[in-house]
Amino acid sequence: MTRPSTPYRVNVLGAGVSGLSTALSLLEKDPSRYSVKVISTHLPGEFHVDYTSPWAGAHWRSYADIADKEQQALDAATYKRFVHLADNEPEAGIMYVTGYDYWEIKPKNFVDPWFNTLLKGYRYLNKDELPQGIQFGTTYITVTMNAPKYLQFLQKKFLALGGMLERATLASLKELARYPHDTQGNRPDIIVNCSGLGSRNLLGVHDHQMFPMRGQIVIVKVPDEIWPKAKQFTMERYAEGASMGTGTVTYVIPRDNGEIVLGGTMDRWSYAEAPEEETTKAIVQRVLATRPDLFKDATILRSCVGLRPNRHGGIRVTASVEQLDWNEGWDNPVAVVAHNYGHAGFGYQASYGCAQKTVANIEQSLQGLEQAHKTVRTMSKL
Ligand SMILES: Cc1cc2nc3c(=O)[nH]c(=O)nc-3n(C[C@H](O)[C@H](O)[C@H](O)COP(=O)(O)OP(=O)(O)OC[C@H]3O[C@@H](n4cnc5c(N)ncnc54)[C@H](O)[C@@H]3O)c2cc1C
Repeated sequence: MTRPSTPYRVNVLGAGVSGLSTALSLLEKDPSRYSVKVISTHLPGEFHVDYTSPWAGAHWRSYADIADKEQQALDAATYKRFVHLADNEPEAGIMYVTGYDYWEIKPKNFVDPWFNTLLKGYRYLNKDELPQGIQFGTTYITVTMNAPKYLQFLQKKFLALGGMLERATLASLKELARYPHDTQGNRPDIIVNCSGLGSRNLLGVHDHQMFPMRGQIVIVKVPDEIWPKAKQFTMERYAEGASMGTGTVTYVIPRDNGEIVLGGTMDRWSYAEAPEEETTKAIVQRVLATRPDLFKDATILRSCVGLRPNRHGGIRVTASVEQLDWNEGWDNPVAVVAHNYGHAGFGYQASYGCAQKTVANIEQSLQGLEQAHKTVRTMSKL
């Protein structure tokens, strides 16, 4: 790794879990190698339908296919990071819980998930441990995070390492490349697009593989005497033929502030912002039917909606050297352009792995940057 005389200037678009994890990973790699600025419409502490991250459950329950080794590696790296944070950094809002997967009908040719060796305590549930209406179930130890708190944690870590954060709404990738990185007005050497669902409309990206997968959730509290038990319980309940992305999946995710997230829905292509009362009732009923012992006296605090940034073909985690309008007379027309978006319903559980991969992609592309600068100078003289 060659060391630049001044740090590489990086502009990151987006302050969701993807943008903040990527920005932090760059500084954690080496704060003297990278100077990082995050630019975003929405920032941690805020709630808006165009900002997915604060609405997430969020628990670690990988959906990576048994054959998808790449996604498994990203999810596994993130799990290990979360375990480290759960053990060492209470401010991260990450808790150990016992996870339960319940199937109303046992899937034909059931195959154990790939993570059965990663997570402690993976086993099939005994008949007498199955709730009413459930044919088959598994259990394991996993983690949940308090999503809004985790975003604040990432932001704090990022700022403590010298990161910069600025609110702005940009129309294009080109604007991100032109956006002043510092007070001297220097442009970035590297731009990173972590705009989630925004990548559908951002000029220069215009990714029409992106679409919203709307999720409605209900946030409840349980009586104090139930909380010690409820805070250790997370679940996913699959109706017949359902899996993440299809059919009815019911879930429960506790947060370290005493709130419990109940879900949910997966409404493909819906941007509807308002929660529906009928849906709230249906979610609560499904949870109650599964675990009346925990939820019969629950109080509903609020219902909310978030839009998962789904992408046909899976995540886009790439980097390349690109020439940005050398014929417009830019003084610095080449840059490394990286993307990290399209994480659907697994943006937290893949966040650290995807951020690390983005850093590795950037490192690899930097090798081509100097060569590209030379080529551009030649072209400009023509
Ligand atoms: C109900 C629900 C439950 C979920 N549960 C889980 C779970 O249990 N586990 C899990 O891993 N994941 C879960 N997810 C998925 C997870 O929340 C998302 O995958 C993740 O939050 C996506 O993060 P992101 O940073 O890519 O996008 P976002 O959080 O949407 O961030 C995008 C950022 O880009 C900014 N931006 C966009 N366009 C522009 C622009 N033009 N100019 C400036 N800024 C811009 C936005 O302001 C925002 O800051 C859930 C999601 C929902 C909705």
